[in-house]
Amino acid sequence: KDEVNIISGALELRKKTVAEVMTRIEDAFMLDYDAVLDFETVSEIMKSGYSRIPVYEGDRKKIITTLYIKDLAFVDPDDNTPLKTLCQFYQNPCNFVFEDVTLDVMFKEFKEGNKGHMAFVHRVNSEGEGDPFYETIGLITLEDVIEELIQAEIMDE
Ligand code: ADP
Repeated sequence: KDEVNIISGALELRKKTVAEVMTRIEDAFMLDYDAVLDFETVSEIMKSGYSRIPVYEGDRKKIITTLYIKDLAFVDPDDNTPLKTLCQFYQNPCNFVFEDVTLDVMFKEFKEGNKGHMAFVHRVNSEGEGDPFYETIGLITLEDVIEELIQAEIMDE
């Protein structure tokens, strides 16, 4: 039965888009670029349990970098280090994909591995008067794609 699920899951990857399985940006745990890594913020990060935290500037739809939990290894909360300082030091790149990219393409990209196992889902917003602009609408990780492949939830530790 597992094999049948995986085969049908594999066939479905071509039909589903990243927007259908992503975590919506409203539901993401993120940090403001202007945040300070004090005791309270570091505790919240640890409590969230995520290993990668998107960092936005001003607007939650404007992601500029990612903070990895491992980047905090040398941070002492008593120093009140600005998040900015850490982001400028590590300069972790972000991988963006368009909302209509299908999961088979996303899976291939994650497998190649050169851009990490998390991507931000974005689209062009051309509503309204002004010039069209990019906005981030969600994030997707390898785990989200594998869950579609095996058609089951992966329980996080
Ligand atoms: P982690 O290593 O942080 O546990 P996973 O890649 O295992 O992340 O993803 C587990 C689930 O959590 C996925 O559904 C993914 O979309 C979601 N996720 C990952 N990072 C975040 C975050 N910062 N905020 C909200 N959801 C997230």
